[in-house]
Amino acid sequence: MSMLTKRLLSLTLIILITLGSSSGCAPPLPAQKFRLLAFGTYIDVEVIGINQPRAEAARRQLQQDFDLMHHAWHAWEPGPLGYVNASIRDGVQRIAAPPSTLPLIKISQELARQSDYLFDPGIGQLVKLWDFHRGELTSRQPPELEAIDALLSQQPSICQLAVDGFHINSNNPAVQLDFGAIGKGYGVDQAILRLQEMGIDSAIVNAGGDLRAIGSRAGVPWRIAIRGPSGSGVLAWLPVSDNGAVFTSGDYERNFTWDGEFYHHIIDPRTGYPAEGAASVTVLHTDATTADAAATALFIAGPEDWPQIARQMGIDQVLLVDTEGQIHMTEKMQNQVKLRPLTKQPRIVSLPE
Ligand code: AMP
Ligand code: MG
Repeated sequence: MSMLTKRLLSLTLIILITLGSSSGCAPPLPAQKFRLLAFGTYIDVEVIGINQPRAEAARRQLQQDFDLMHHAWHAWEPGPLGYVNASIRDGVQRIAAPPSTLPLIKISQELARQSDYLFDPGIGQLVKLWDFHRGELTSRQPPELEAIDALLSQQPSICQLAVDGFHINSNNPAVQLDFGAIGKGYGVDQAILRLQEMGIDSAIVNAGGDLRAIGSRAGVPWRIAIRGPSGSGVLAWLPVSDNGAVFTSGDYERNFTWDGEFYHHIIDPRTGYPAEGAASVTVLHTDATTADAAATALFIAGPEDWPQIARQMGIDQVLLVDTEGQIHMTEKMQNQVKLRPLTKQPRIVSLPE
């Protein structure tokens, strides 16, 4: 072996050892977990591939972001959305809107339109009439039919607001905004954006079972549990890798029984009463905002009409459990989901063209 070849060989060896120690041999950073409080629920965050000080910085930033969002979008507490609602109620026709309320209003208007206004955050007064905005719910009388009809006759809908720059034009004082069906999804999307901005590409933001995941857990897809229609127990598992939001709307979340009748918090804007037919709907989609709004809309559409609304909203991964316990799902969902053993045979539904 010539001197030159020997030198080249030893140089290659040095380079290989250096590469080995800088990439493969360092122990992987452990997953960092932290818990936040927002929208009246715990938000559990897991981030992969960063050290503890960076995770602590992310925790502080996210909590600050969620505090701002909670303040901005609370429907009845004083704050930016409270101001918009009070102005609409007072008959102000051109409202100087706090900027923090505008993106959510605009996105909601578009999603409401796609859902044929089954998802309609303009029906805040109806939700209030049912008293579902209160945290704790005890058995009580449902609202009088006359009160519901009187509200419905005023046709409140988010479509009656027109955003014009920083102004909102309003011509119906019966409209009140309630972002209970989309705010959590929008907040989860903002949290994921913030984590990405901080250089984090594998994380999960879980708001009480409704969540979005990006990246993977050290190359292994995130494994997401879908709650059963009673709200307890696991009905199915969904692997999510790269990017996916899983949101469920269920009648178990807020409800009461009166005179033997069961009433829940997802209101059909056409009747003013809790929607009938579905017990829970789970949607898997790329963003949490759409997944959240769509889960609510498809719940209201019910076991017969949900495929049409799903198509209009650009949703193709759906699992609906009806009030008889029958599972309905799209073929794309069937290809992903792992149902708990002994689950009744699901009905596979194709979306209309
Ligand atoms: P979710 O759990 O995401 O389905 O949202 C339900 C919450 O959204 C309720 O507690 C109400 O605050 C609100 N809500 C109820 N019915 C509707 C509806 N038809 N459109 C928009 N929001 C609604
Ligand atoms: Mg929702």
